[in-house]
Amino acid sequence: MQMHIGPIANHRQREEGGLVYPVYSRRSQGLSLGINLFPDRKRCSFDCPYCEVFPFKGDRPFSLPLMERQLLSELSRIGEQGIAVKDICFSGNGEPSLSPLFFEALAAAARIRDERVPDAALVLITNGTGLRNGRTFRRLCRAATGPLALHIWLKLDAGTEAWYRLMARSPVPFEGLIRTIKDFLACAPVTLQTMLCSIQGKGPPPQEAAAWERLVVDLAGIQGAGKTGEPPPGIAALQLYGKARPAPTDPLTAALAPAYLEERAASLKAALARSSVPLHKKNLPIQVFP
Ligand code: SF4
Repeated sequence: MQMHIGPIANHRQREEGGLVYPVYSRRSQGLSLGINLFPDRKRCSFDCPYCEVFPFKGDRPFSLPLMERQLLSELSRIGEQGIAVKDICFSGNGEPSLSPLFFEALAAAARIRDERVPDAALVLITNGTGLRNGRTFRRLCRAATGPLALHIWLKLDAGTEAWYRLMARSPVPFEGLIRTIKDFLACAPVTLQTMLCSIQGKGPPPQEAAAWERLVVDLAGIQGAGKTGEPPPGIAALQLYGKARPAPTDPLTAALAPAYLEERAASLKAALARSSVPLHKKNLPIQVFP
């Protein structure tokens, strides 16, 4: 039987309480196996207006043994079809680091990855708020630099407090969050992700775009000491992405023209080239997913 991996259908599988759901991921450029730590209710420290999690009713809480069984079963099903798994990705119905079972689930997923799909990456998509907890910060730093080789994809949707308020709708203070992100960049490699969309018909104002660009250049200048043989700390890549999927708050947010995303990427590239960041950061990989 042919397996259908559509960008939307399998997110529904997640919303219907699935703990592991295959999805074709634009940003992974292939098949990603999502892990959902919140099958019974959304749990997030942000309330992004573009969030794709639709209201759902789940009656079973997350179960680690069930996640392991579902992951093994999905890997077998996918393997039978000869499809390569690009990554196993913690995202799901909320902010993964808020789950008390996150690190146990991460260790289990890493073990299964090593046994069954050693070439697949292990990815955490996070809004960064969990890093404000010192223990989570240290454990994620170790996970990103140690044998787990966790890839951390961290949200940076705004360069100004005003746009952050609109995009995150969170009580977490912007300045404090940026300070924490700076500290984390000094100890671990991170892929930054920025969503560019309009809110109530208006895209980011020019002063927001300029502030975001200055902030990314500033962050690109951060280099930690790192250890020999470990991936170097700091920004590893930047992904600019647009709104491509429906959200329950539609039409509050809407996609912007792909040309706008390309312009922002080109402007950032030029700003990095002009800046005093280290040479290898001037050529930071910048990917655009309109
Ligand atoms: S951080 Fe992610 S899960 Fe949380 S509200 Fe924003 S888009 Fe949704």
